[in-house]
Amino acid sequence: MKTHIITYGCQMNEYDTHLVRSELASLGAEFVDTWQEADFVLVNTCAVRGKPVEKVRSLLGELRKEKERRALLVGMMGCLAQLEEGQQMARKFEVDVLLGPGALTEIGKALEAQSRFWDLSFREELTHHLPPAPKGALSAFVSIIRGCNHHCTYCIVPTTRGPEVSRHPDLILRELAQLKAAGVVEVTLLGQNVNSYGKDQPGYPSFAELLRQAGRVGIPRIKFTTSHPVNFTDDVIAAIAETPQVCRYIHLPVQSGSNRVLRRMGREYRREWYLDRIRAIRQAMPDAVLSTDIIVGFPGETEEDFQQTLSLYDEVRYDSAYMFIYSPRPGTPSYKHFQDLPREVKVERLQRLIERQKHWSYQQNQRWVGQTLEVLVRGAAKDEAYAEGHTRGNHPTLVPAAQAPRPGLYQVLIRQATPHMLYGEVVGAQEPAPLPLAMA
Ligand code: SAM
Ligand code: SF4
Repeated sequence: MKTHIITYGCQMNEYDTHLVRSELASLGAEFVDTWQEADFVLVNTCAVRGKPVEKVRSLLGELRKEKERRALLVGMMGCLAQLEEGQQMARKFEVDVLLGPGALTEIGKALEAQSRFWDLSFREELTHHLPPAPKGALSAFVSIIRGCNHHCTYCIVPTTRGPEVSRHPDLILRELAQLKAAGVVEVTLLGQNVNSYGKDQPGYPSFAELLRQAGRVGIPRIKFTTSHPVNFTDDVIAAIAETPQVCRYIHLPVQSGSNRVLRRMGREYRREWYLDRIRAIRQAMPDAVLSTDIIVGFPGETEEDFQQTLSLYDEVRYDSAYMFIYSPRPGTPSYKHFQDLPREVKVERLQRLIERQKHWSYQQNQRWVGQTLEVLVRGAAKDEAYAEGHTRGNHPTLVPAAQAPRPGLYQVLIRQATPHMLYGEVVGAQEPAPLPLAMA
C-alpha cells in the first residue's frame, strides 16, 4: 500500500513515527513523498498547543475532500488522537484508523480490519517493542520512558500519554548497540521526564546509571531530553560530567522565573532550586551548554512576574531557548480555572524575551570562536556553498561544502558566531570516519 506519514510535534512523535513506519515497512508498505500519491495517509498529531491542533484540523478537512474523489484510508495517531477533541475531529472528518500514543503497536491489526479501527489503550507491548535501526542515519532517537507523573497545570501530556513507564534497560542497551552497528553516531534518549527513569520499576537503574551504561556502548554522542529540574540530582550531573560520550548539552525547562507563576503552574520547584541546579551544572562542567523552555503570558502573569523571568535569563545566560506563548488547552487545570491574558500582552512579552535571548545567544556563541569543536555534518545547507551540521552542544554550524563532502563527524575550527549560527573551517575528520559515499 502506498503510504505517507505526516508528523507534527516533538521528538517523541518523530520516534513514534519511526516505530510505526518500520512496522508498516515490515508489512510491505511502500512510502511515497506526498499525501496526494498515497492510498494511506497517517497523521501523527500534537496536542500541546492550539496551533498544531489547528494544522491537523485543516489537513483532515482536505483529506476528507480527497476521500470523496478516490479510495483513501486516513489514520490519526499521537496525542490529539487520545483526546475527546481529537476524536470529535476524527468523527467529523471520517478518520478510519485512530491510535492513541499507547496503542501504536496495533497498526498492523488496524490495517487488517475491514472497518473503522480505533484503539486508545495503553499497551504493554509498546514498552517491549524494539524498532529496527533507521537506514543510513547518523542520528537517532531512543525512547527510555513514556508518560508523565507530573501535573503542570497548563499541560495536556499526562492525559494524552498516561503515567510514567520506563523501558527495560536491556532493551534500551540492545537498541543502542543496534544503532551503533548501523553507523549511528548520535543518539538522543527520549522521555517527557528522562530523569524519572527507573523510579516506576524496582530493580531498574537510575537515570544517572543508565547514562553511564549508555556511554559504555560506544556511540560517540549521547544526548537526552527532556529533564525535569526537580529530579536533576547531583548524581545525574556527575554522570554527565564523568561520561565522555554524554554531550554536555543540558536542556532544562524552567517555564517561568517567578515563584508565584511556578506555583500556579504546579512546577514543584522554586526559582532558587532551579538556579542552584544551574550552579551545580556549571561548577561540574564550566563548558556546559544550556537551553530551556519558557511559557510567556501564563494566566495571571504580571509585568513584575515577567521581569523575574527576564532576570532569571540574565542570571543563567542560556545558549538557546524554546519560547512559547501560553496556549489554553481544553482538559488542563489552567484552562478550567484561570483567565487567559490578552493576546497582545503575551505577544509583546514574547518579543521582549526573544530579544533578550538573542543577546545571550550571541554572547554565549562568541566563547567558541577560536576553538575547535566536533561537528556532525548532515549534508548540504540551503546555501549550497555550505554544509550544515551541529556541535555536541547543539549549535547549528556551517562549514564550506568542499571541506565536508560527506555526512559525518568533523573537527571544525570556529571562525565566527552569530546568535543562531557558528561558522568554521574543517581541520580534520573525526573517528569514526565520515560515511562512505554510498550512504551519504
Ligand atoms: N516534559 C517536558 C517538561 O517538563 O519540560 C516538556 C514537555 S512539553 C511537550 C514541551 C514544552 O511545551 C513544555 O516544556 C512547555 O514549555 C510547552 N508547553 C506545554 N504546554 C503548553 C501550553 N499549554 N502552552 C504553551 N506551551 C506549552
Ligand atoms: Fe507536561 Fe509538566 Fe509533564 Fe512536562 S512535566 S510533560 S510540562 S506535565
